[in-house]
Parts: sequence; structure tokens; C-alpha cells
Amino acid sequence: MTLYPKLIFDALEHVRYPGTGKDIVSSGMIKDDLRIDGNKISFTLVFEKANDPFAKSVVKAAEQAILTYIGEDIDIKGNISIEMKEAPKPKVVSILPEVKNIIAVFSGKGGVGKSTVSSNLAISLAALGYKVGLLDADIHGPSMPKMFGVEDARPEMEDIDGKQCLIPIEKYGVKMLSIGFFVDPNNALVWRGSMASNALKQLITDAYWGELDFFIMDLPPGTGDIHLTLVQTLGITGAVIVTTPQDVALADARKGANMFTNEKVNVPVLGLIENMAWFTPAELPENKYYIFGKDGGKRLAAELNVPLLGQIPIVQSIREHGDAGRPIACDDDTVSGAAFRQLAIKVVECIDDRNRNQAATKKVEMKN
Ligand code: ADP
Repeated sequence: MTLYPKLIFDALEHVRYPGTGKDIVSSGMIKDDLRIDGNKISFTLVFEKANDPFAKSVVKAAEQAILTYIGEDIDIKGNISIEMKEAPKPKVVSILPEVKNIIAVFSGKGGVGKSTVSSNLAISLAALGYKVGLLDADIHGPSMPKMFGVEDARPEMEDIDGKQCLIPIEKYGVKMLSIGFFVDPNNALVWRGSMASNALKQLITDAYWGELDFFIMDLPPGTGDIHLTLVQTLGITGAVIVTTPQDVALADARKGANMFTNEKVNVPVLGLIENMAWFTPAELPENKYYIFGKDGGKRLAAELNVPLLGQIPIVQSIREHGDAGRPIACDDDTVSGAAFRQLAIKVVECIDDRNRNQAATKKVEMKN
């Protein structure tokens, strides 16, 4: 028998693509690379989706149709190639498989209260009943050991399932590790980029964090290689940006926001926290002094189209509690402690909203 294309297309018209119920010829799934060589037929089937779940069964059905409608002696088995129009998505390997949400706390410049916010946020989330881990990744000025009052602590190693793991220090309901436990605070170490990234990666992967609802990462200030490495390898849920209302801080915060939302990094900014928003002296509780300018963070949040998660005033007790190793959030009967609790609730709400939206988008994608 002489084989010719129409004969083959007629046979293939009997095969339906289960995703749409239409035949594979009129759906345009046969690529124009059909080859006939004696009684050997070969061609490519094109699928829209990467890893199309029907691909293998459609190939089998096409082989069978040719054998049934043209002849049992046709050499077709193994000659149909598969092509996916959509590139397969790279598999994100979860480094912390038992962690539900990873939040990066970021500031464009130092001294704006990023560590104060990280510690109080972590403690507030724990007080709300969540399992929380906190990594102090601020290689330039690790302050968590002091803020948690554990400067002399040394995290121990333990054998977990045959692997030697660092055990985070646990205090105020939070599991915490700091790069500060491994360097002498009086002997500032100048970290080179790769050295710092490796040390930090070890604190993440060689530590036993266990099951966590939130893993908070207090990043070093500014933008650099360390940020990119950490952010890109970790599968971060979102970033929280801390800034003061001052113009110089806002400019750096804006740069940071762009780093996260850049298409290569693609980490959503969950929201912005304006710290040191105003000062109210204890003796004049009605007065607000806008030392670093008024509402700068609020305006930047609007400009970036992200939620303003909170405005936190300058309060002497916030500084005192931090210095004394017991962040103010440990005492939620104080005004500032309650303010951090509200901030934590807002962060949880933002993440819940995002997760709901993502689930809804996935459903729509699957329907289509
Ligand atoms: P960063 O991590 O951005 O370098 P820190 O959290 O270490 O900043 O804060 C710098 C200093 O400012 C610390 O002494 C801290 O106690 C103090 N501080 C931060 N936020 C406040 C605030 N809202 N009120 C009073 N002091 C604050």
C-alpha cells in the first residue's frame, strides 16, 4: 500500500484530545513534520500545556488509530514525538518543606527599626498562637541575641535523622538563630558576599526549624547579592518593608521594593511599615511631633500600591525593651505592645488574602 498524508490525517481524525473533546487534526495538534518512509510514519504531536496529563494517552491512541485504520504492518510505535508549547516550569525545591510562610523583613538603610519590627512581629505572631521561627540574617549588625537577651547562648548541635543540625534558641515562643551567635560582636567581621550567603544558607538548611507557620528573616539593610541569593533560593512568600518617613529612607525603600518585584526575583511586597512615624512625649500625650516628616511611609505604600501595615511612633519604651532583651511585644498590655499585635494580625490577613487569591487563580487556570 502506498501511504500518503490524507490517509494518515483521516486515521488521526478518529483521535480526540480529552481536554477539549475535539479531534487532534482539527485542533492543530499535528505538527507539519509528517514523514513517510516506506511503511514507516513519524510526526510530532503538539500540546499547549507543559506536562500535559493527556500527552501519553493521546500518543497511544494516535498509534492505535493508524494501526486500525491504515494497517497492522505500519511502523508507527515510538515514532510520534511530543512537543510542549509551554516551557515546563522549573521545580521549586522547597528548602524548608515544613515551613508554611517565609517573610523577609527588609529596609533600604540601617537604623530604621527593621530588627525591632522583626523581633516584635515574630513575638506577636507567636503570642497569637502561630509556630514562629526568626533568622537574624543581618550580617552587618546582628542584633537579635541582644534583643532576645541571649547574647551568651550558644546553639547546640543535635543528631536529627542521621544529620547533625543546629538547634535554634527558643525564647518568647520564637525559635531563633542569629549570625551573631557565630561572630564576636566586638570584632566586626567583614563578610565577603559568597561567604555570608553560605553562612546564612547553613543557618537555614543545617538547622532544625521543624514545622513553622511563619519563618521571619531579618535581612541585612540595602540591596545586594546576599539578598538576591537568599530571596531566589528560598521561595519567599512575601517581603515586608520597613522605613521611616524620611526622604532618604523612602528612596532606599523604593529601591528595595523594586528589587523584590523585579521580574527575575518576583517576590510580592506584602506591605510597608512606617516606623518612627512621630514622637509623643509622655508629658504631652496629645502632641505628635513628626521628627522625620509626616506620612512618608503612607505615601510610599500608596505609590507602590501595597498595604500600609502600620505606623509605629517613636516610643522610649520600645528602645528600652529592645536594649533590655525583652521586646515590647512581650507585654501586650502596653500601647506599643498592642500596636505590634495589631501589626501581626494585619500581616496574617495580607498573607491569607494572597493565598486565597492564588488558590482562586489556580482554580480558574485549571478550568480553562
Ligand atoms: P535596624 O535593624 O533597621 O538597623 P533597629 O531595629 O536596630 O534598626 O533600631 C535602631 C535603634 O532604634 C534601636 O536602638 C532601636 O531600639 C530603636 N528603635 C527602633 N524603632 C523604634 C521606635 N519605634 N521607637 C523607639 N526606638 C526605636
